[in-house]
Amino acid sequence: MKSLLELSGVSVSFDGFRAINNLSFQIGEPELRAIIGPNGAGKTTFMDIITGKTRPDEGRVIWGEKSVSLLRMSESQIARAGIGRKFQKPTVFEAQTVRENLAMALKNPRGPFDVLLYRKTEAGAARIEELAREVGLHDDLPRQAGALSHGQKQWLEIGMLLAQDPRLLLVDEPAAGMTPAEREHTTDLLKRAARTRAVVVVEHDMEFVRRLDCRVTVLHEGSVLAEGSLDHVTANRDVIDVYLGR
Ligand code: ADP
Repeated sequence: MKSLLELSGVSVSFDGFRAINNLSFQIGEPELRAIIGPNGAGKTTFMDIITGKTRPDEGRVIWGEKSVSLLRMSESQIARAGIGRKFQKPTVFEAQTVRENLAMALKNPRGPFDVLLYRKTEAGAARIEELAREVGLHDDLPRQAGALSHGQKQWLEIGMLLAQDPRLLLVDEPAAGMTPAEREHTTDLLKRAARTRAVVVVEHDMEFVRRLDCRVTVLHEGSVLAEGSLDHVTANRDVIDVYLGR
């Protein structure tokens, strides 16, 4: 497995408070990784650093085979480099159909300027069908996005991110507010997406993390407390102390 993203010795403070403290992290391509940790552990700030929203005070954030520094790139350059982020709340165009939503998100393989034309080509239409199938919304293509269930909206948004063909996808609490059946579908979807790219999932629901069946990174006070399989990290004394507050 190649390393795709590497953070080393990263720290960031807000008004003197160290939200991220000498954090090191590595993810390969492809790989599925779950990030867990109590509230305030630094999970959101960690993702903000990767996407360029928050700039660290110290450390390195290295991307891709050319080992470029993400710290020299703007948020939009980082997104264009292949890092997609899904926030907790679904943001889809409610008045548009599922097909239109996916079409709007589509990336044109020939460049951004003729994306409008690309959507209308056979290849563009086929890509939309393929994406809908990937996220389990093929039967819903003509439906208005606003009429979808909460879970379906989340899948549509994941589909819209996949339409950009990211090399790294960051997903914040995808299972929140989902029914058990929706959660199961989401697990399958993320596992499938992670066959060809890196996917980082921040999640509180341990049952969901168990089903993801992947390497887990436990964050605490802005650092990595433990890493490994879910069984490995949940057997760790420090992790037990943090979660049970002892
Ligand atoms: P998590 O997502 O794991 O709950 P966060 O990354 O949101 O954790 O926050 C980590 C710590 O940093 C928290 O104590 C939070 O209050 C603090 N923090 C995060 N962002 C800011 C900010 N913009 N200004 C001040 N403190 C912040």
